[in-house]
Amino acid sequence: MSNENKSIHEFDFNLICEYFSGIERQGPGSPEATLKALSFIENLTDKSLIADLGCGTGGQTMMLAQHAPGYITGIDLFPAFIDLFNANACKLNLQSRVQGIVGSMDNLPFQREELDLIWSEGAIANIGFEKGLNYWKEFLKTDGYIAVTYESWFTDERPVEIEKFWVDAVPEIDTIGHNISIMQKAGYHLVAAFTLPEACWTEHFYLPQRKAQEIFLKKYAGNPMAEDLIAYQQYEAQLYDKYKAYYGYVFYIGKKL
Ligand code: SAM
Repeated sequence: MSNENKSIHEFDFNLICEYFSGIERQGPGSPEATLKALSFIENLTDKSLIADLGCGTGGQTMMLAQHAPGYITGIDLFPAFIDLFNANACKLNLQSRVQGIVGSMDNLPFQREELDLIWSEGAIANIGFEKGLNYWKEFLKTDGYIAVTYESWFTDERPVEIEKFWVDAVPEIDTIGHNISIMQKAGYHLVAAFTLPEACWTEHFYLPQRKAQEIFLKKYAGNPMAEDLIAYQQYEAQLYDKYKAYYGYVFYIGKKL
């Protein structure tokens, strides 16, 4: 198949979910990047309420819970991720402070202005950067924090191949300067913005996928959908290697005004 012509949105969600259940993270990131972002957040207490939206199986959530006080609710669309999330919380004896629930980031089960912190790594594109910042703000207290990672262009112009790939996956993708202005317009003070180091993509995201790909291809030998999915993931990793000067994830940390 031609991976250049396929978009991630064309794959079966259950297959994507099963594939990503086999790895610790479902998106680029690292414990170090999570902790660096957390270092900008002030005033959390044992009573703080935190939401991790699009939490996946909770790689970053468990790291947060081990380094920040308060209660964390993880929300993800996929029940299989939430089952693994809650099993991970139990394994780390965090179940009294960390709970995963199935839900959608565009229909949150919180009260207005009850959250002290909203976290979201690699997931806000599912609702849209601007829409997510605006909608999620309703649930944050004044002076509450938001910390999200989001796909961002590093340059004003890019080669066509990489432009096409990412515009298909994340139609709203834009430059760091533009994203900061969206955050400010949405009513946040920009606390910090930093680019995730390359290792967040290579060592922590693409490398662990190699083993998962072997297992998946063995299980689904001869299944064209599964083979296409793996080919797509491999193509994405090759593109990163080739074009990493042009894009990456940026952590945007804001404080509600
Ligand atoms: N935060 C995790 C991490 O960094 O490892 C997962 C990131 S993964 C790239 C994006 C996550 O968003 C997936 O777990 C996916 O199931 C979830 N997701 C997609 N659409 C969603 C929605 N509408 N509401 C909640 N979660 C959603």
